[in-house]
Amino acid sequence: MATVVMKFGGTSVANVERIQNVARHVKREVDAGNKVAVIVSAMSGVTNQLVSWVQEASPLHDMREYDAVVATGEQVTAGLLAIALQALGVDARSWTGWQVPIETNEAHGYARISGIPATAFKAAIEGGQVAVVTGFQGIEPNSNRVATLGRGGSDTSAVAIAVALEADVCDIYTDVDGVYTTDPRIVPKARRLAKVSYEEMLEMASLGSKVLQTRSVELAMVYKMKTRVLSSFVAPEAMKAFSIENSEDIGTIVCDEDEIVEQQVVSGIAYAKDEAKVTLLKVDDKPGVAARIFGPLSDASINVDMIVQNVTPDGKHTDMTFTVRSTELPRALDVLKRAKADIGHFDIKSSADVVKISVIGVGMRSHAGVAAQMFKTLAEKGINIHAISTSEIKISVLIDAAYAELAVRTLHTAYGLDSD
Ligand code: ADP
Ligand code: ASP
Ligand code: MG
Repeated sequence: MATVVMKFGGTSVANVERIQNVARHVKREVDAGNKVAVIVSAMSGVTNQLVSWVQEASPLHDMREYDAVVATGEQVTAGLLAIALQALGVDARSWTGWQVPIETNEAHGYARISGIPATAFKAAIEGGQVAVVTGFQGIEPNSNRVATLGRGGSDTSAVAIAVALEADVCDIYTDVDGVYTTDPRIVPKARRLAKVSYEEMLEMASLGSKVLQTRSVELAMVYKMKTRVLSSFVAPEAMKAFSIENSEDIGTIVCDEDEIVEQQVVSGIAYAKDEAKVTLLKVDDKPGVAARIFGPLSDASINVDMIVQNVTPDGKHTDMTFTVRSTELPRALDVLKRAKADIGHFDIKSSADVVKISVIGVGMRSHAGVAAQMFKTLAEKGINIHAISTSEIKISVLIDAAYAELAVRTLHTAYGLDSD
C-alpha cells in the first residue's frame, strides 16, 4: 500500500463532467488500496476572472483582500470533487488551506509555505478517507488571514502536502501527458521526456515552462519527492494504479540526474513572454553608477534578470540594458525617474515587446559549443539578440517577441530534439 498525492489543474476540473472523470482517477487509486490526498485547482478561467474583478474594483488593492477573493475558486472544486467521490461510494471530504492547515508567511499574493502541522488531516487519510484539498491557498497564522501561493501555486500545494505526508509519489495531472522538450502547443514536434532532472525542470519552470510552478520543483528537489506529470484525459480505467514496484511507464518522472541514463546535451527549450527591456543610454562610466541604478530597483523589490553594459565610443559613457518582469515595468521606470538625481544624466528606452528564449540541459556542463550553436542558429534566421545570460546548465537570449515561435522551433530542430 502506498500514499499517493494527486493534483488536478484547472482544465482537468473545468466542469462537473471532468470533475466526475477526476473522481474515477481517484477511485482507481483507492480501489488499489492506496491512501490518497487530492489537491485541486479552480475550474479553468475562474482564477483569471477573480483577479480581473479585483483589478476592476481597484488597481491598487490590499493584497490580503486580493487573497480572500482569488482563493475562493479552489473551494468550489474541492467541494464538488468530494461530492463526486461520495457519489461513487468513496469516503471523502474537502479541506481548505486553513483547515489542513497549510501555514504561510505574510507575502500575500505570492506567499511561501512555512509549515503543515496537520495532525487531524493526516489521521483522516490514515483512516482511509480521501482528503480533497484546495490548492493555491494557505493561512498566515499570525493574522489568521487566507494567503495564496502565486499563480500556478496548486502544484506547490501538492508537493508540500506530499512532503508532509511522506507520500510515495506526487502525481501532477494536467492537460498534457508529461513534460516535453518544449511547449507542445507551440512545437508539434516536441517530444515527451520520460525523465527530467530536478535541476533541469527547475530551470525550465523558472524560464517560462508553466507546466509546473517553480517553487513546486524547488520543494520536490529539496525533499527528493518523486514527482510525475501525467494526463488527466486518459481514461481513468486505462491507467494502472500507482504501486511502489511499478510506476515508471507513464508521463514524465522528475527525479535525480543520476537516475537518467541517456542524458542529452540539451533537454529542453523554454520561452518567457513576460519580460521587458530597459536601456539607459549615455550613463557616466565611473565606479558606483551600477550600484546607484540597481540599488533603488532592488529596494523596491523589482527583480532584475539579464544585464548588458556597452561602452560608448567616447569611452566616458556607457549604455546599460537590463530586463524586468513586464508587469513591473511601470514601477521600474518610476523608480529610475526618482533616482535620476543620484544616478546622473541618462536617456531611457523601454520595450515589453521582447521574449526570453532559453536552452536548458545538464549536459552543457561537459559539452562546449552549445551557446555558439544557439547564436549561429538564430543568426541564420536573421534574429537579433538584445541580451544574453548564462548559468551552468542554461543559456538565455532576449529577442523581439515577433520571432518567439520561429526561434523556439528552429532551435528545437537545431539541437536534434524534434520527434521523428
Ligand atoms: P494546469 O492547469 O493543469 O496546472 P498549466 O496550464 O498550468 O496546467 O500547465 C500545462 C501547460 O503547460 C500545457 O498545456 C502546455 O501548454 C504548457 N507547457 C509549457 N511548456 C511545457 C513543456 N515543456 N512540457 C509540457 N507542457 C508545457
Ligand atoms: N487557480 C490558481 C491559478 O490559476 C492556482 C493553480 O491553478 O495552480 O493560478
Ligand atoms: Mg498550472
